[in-house]
Amino acid sequence: MAENAFRPNGGRHHVVVIGAGFGGLNAVKSLKNADVDVTLIDKKNHHLFQPMLYQVATGLVSSGEIAPSTRQILRDQDNAHFVNGNVTDIDIKAQTVTAALDDTERTFEYDSLIVAAGAGQSYFGNDHFAEFAPGMKTLDDALELRANIIAAFEKAELTDDPAEREKLLTFVIVGAGPTGVELTGQIAEMAKRSFNGQFSNFSPSSAKIYLLDGAPQVLPPFGKRLGRKAQRTLEKLGVDVRLNAMVTNVDEKSVTYKDMKTEQETTIEAGVKIWSAGVAASPLGKMVAEQAGVETDRAGRVPVNEDLTLGEYSNVYVIGDMMGLNRLPGLAQVAMQGGAHAAKLIEAKLDEESTANEKEAFDYFDKGSMAVISRFNAVVKMGKTEMTGFPAWIAWLALHVAYLVGFRSRAIVALNWLINAVSPVRGNLAITDQQRLARNKMGKDA
Ligand SMILES: Cc1cc2nc3c(=O)[nH]c(=O)nc-3n(C[C@H](O)[C@H](O)[C@H](O)COP(=O)(O)OP(=O)(O)OC[C@H]3O[C@@H](n4cnc5c(N)ncnc54)[C@H](O)[C@@H]3O)c2cc1C
Repeated sequence: MAENAFRPNGGRHHVVVIGAGFGGLNAVKSLKNADVDVTLIDKKNHHLFQPMLYQVATGLVSSGEIAPSTRQILRDQDNAHFVNGNVTDIDIKAQTVTAALDDTERTFEYDSLIVAAGAGQSYFGNDHFAEFAPGMKTLDDALELRANIIAAFEKAELTDDPAEREKLLTFVIVGAGPTGVELTGQIAEMAKRSFNGQFSNFSPSSAKIYLLDGAPQVLPPFGKRLGRKAQRTLEKLGVDVRLNAMVTNVDEKSVTYKDMKTEQETTIEAGVKIWSAGVAASPLGKMVAEQAGVETDRAGRVPVNEDLTLGEYSNVYVIGDMMGLNRLPGLAQVAMQGGAHAAKLIEAKLDEESTANEKEAFDYFDKGSMAVISRFNAVVKMGKTEMTGFPAWIAWLALHVAYLVGFRSRAIVALNWLINAVSPVRGNLAITDQQRLARNKMGKDA
């Protein structure tokens, strides 16, 4: 045993799982009946349902509904133990993981390791954009964004200068993937519908909302037809969609992009700038890849073997957004199925009587993709089946509510959506000074 490293009493096989996101949490749950002790480590104390983050950012649901306490989720799983700590070191030769919360640190010894630390925002080498155009990956991001969006309207009410008001009420969203599209649609609905008639000095519907992307269409993974449909729906809501628009600079006051066809540069002065254009795998990926002698790809993803193990290390699995395998996309289902697969192989290796293939290749089952454009309007792609409009919105709602963790969250979110469908009122528009101002003081890793 590594000196001073912790492992549970009783001598059972010890599985350490890093990350309580879709992949890690599903791996832990899949090990519920296995003869193992599981230690799940996450730097956040909650499991975050990222697909609904934009709804927190736009006041549709509260943070608690999409981020239940991980400790509470696992309260009935006797073989699982949760640790709230930031993993700072992994040593795959010594089989140890070190995690810290503030200045308290502990090292854990494992027999099997599942690394599921997900991905963060990528600014494609322009990290300084982050100061002015925050991304949306964490609850802190969504709450800060909500505070910035609402504060823009409040400041517009205060100013007498029409040019200043126009700038304050200009929103630029960079990245027309599902997150960018969903966020754009909701900001437009806030301006046109929810805030209608609530301000004295201006009409909220005068807000200008731009969606920029370097690609030639919105929602590229959904194909041309659905992309065009989504674009038209946004444009009907008053959104200015600019494609082939490669962002070249973001500063305190503006966003500049280059038209990829004409090479012409355009600068848009904007009060609120949001980045949803790229992802980079957790730096823990590089840490384990280097030790295993494999090279991460440009997005920091770790190439894994077909069974999701890492290089020669048959007791180390890398799953979800961190893994690079057969160009699988960064989707919740890829992570969840990867977590279940790793758990299954760990159990198979421990069961001496089992005839199961301990190196079974991961076989991803594609359940499709969905994105909400606006109220009553979504796009869904499931294999060759494509849906748009209201039926797609119902499918989106049913699926997302079903996948939320906990009955309480499901019930409250369903109710919130029902209320929003029939009334412009949003139930979560309170903002605090901490949300609006504290990020820079908290540091980037918050
Ligand atoms: C805004 C947004 C919307 C999305 N919408 C959709 C959608 O509609 N459909 C879909 O299928 N997918 C969607 N995705 C993608 C989906 O959320 C991811 O593919 C999925 O979360 C990946 O799961 P994961 O387990 O790999 O990582 P995550 O779910 O990101 O979990 C990683 C966990 O690791 C923890 N962690 C990270 N670093 C450390 C560390 N050093 N120490 C300890 N813990 C650490 C994090 O706190 C986090 O809890 C969306 C993503 C975002 C950001």
